[in-house]
Amino acid sequence: MDKKKLISIIVPCHNEQLNIEQLYSEILSFFPTKLYQLELIYIDDGSSDETLDKIKILSENSNFVKYISFSRNFGHQNALSAGLDLANGVCVISMDADLQHPPELIPKMISKWEEGFQIINSVRIDKNIGFLKKITSRLFYKVLNFISDTKIEPGTADFRLLDKKVVETLKNMPEKHLFLRGLVSWIGFKQEKIEYIANKRMQGKSSYSLKRMVHFAAIGITSFSTKPLKISIYIGVIMAFCAIIYSIYAIYASFFTEKTITGWTSLILTILFIGAIQLIMLGIIGEYLGKLFIENKNRPKYIINESNLK
Ligand code: UDP
Ligand code: MG
Repeated sequence: MDKKKLISIIVPCHNEQLNIEQLYSEILSFFPTKLYQLELIYIDDGSSDETLDKIKILSENSNFVKYISFSRNFGHQNALSAGLDLANGVCVISMDADLQHPPELIPKMISKWEEGFQIINSVRIDKNIGFLKKITSRLFYKVLNFISDTKIEPGTADFRLLDKKVVETLKNMPEKHLFLRGLVSWIGFKQEKIEYIANKRMQGKSSYSLKRMVHFAAIGITSFSTKPLKISIYIGVIMAFCAIIYSIYAIYASFFTEKTITGWTSLILTILFIGAIQLIMLGIIGEYLGKLFIENKNRPKYIINESNLK
């Protein structure tokens, strides 16, 4: 009998001490161990609680549990990226540690993959999701899909299966501001989606504050579109047009009418208005420049402190 193929499951963890073991046992109960060999990689993203200790205990008892631990918190997307870099499987499944991504979908994903799909995305049906999260998430996808050229299905989560070929392609992408949902949609290949109802977070609390989500959204938008730059050009053109008309009037008024220095109000309003527009444009340009600056530094996306891999 030939050797069973290896499938990797990668799990980014940030302060998930209470979820590590339960996720482990749930994955084990759903993973088709008869057909495939499992490699379970936990990525400890700079947790300050017992997460790493819990993972280490698991890895001592079962040799298929691997881990990487970052030197500090590098964020969910970078943790996923580390997992992809280090996974050895013929396909890689990424999922959250908090059991919001139901492990019972794993066999379904695998069978879709066996049918020949290379990317199996999961789409969350909004239930059991906090009100604020629901609203912000919908708004986020609306804005993103309006502005960006890469369309992303609302509710797409970082719970997906990627074929080895896709993983290799992603690994070779040099970008540092990762927005995997966008990249995966952009990348092509044979894609399929599975819908699921998200569970409530098991233990602990979400690491994504509103501020972090806004930041994440900004990366998503500026990573996949240069339309904001173009918007500023349109506004600039319209402004210039208005300015020309107004200056014609101003010249006419000063030569052919008796009015002298009236219009202090209009003057100050104009200055303020133009100043505001300029600031907006500068802000947008700054956003892109900032990204170029960071990309240019070529810093690693993450730093591994310790690991039992390789
Ligand atoms: N996570 C991470 N690094 C972070 C924040 C989160 O690795 O800086 C992990 C977290 O442990 C979980 C997943 O990313 O496994 C999703 O995070 P969370 O549940 O906080 O986000 P939400 O489900 O609220 O979007
Ligand atoms: Mg969660």
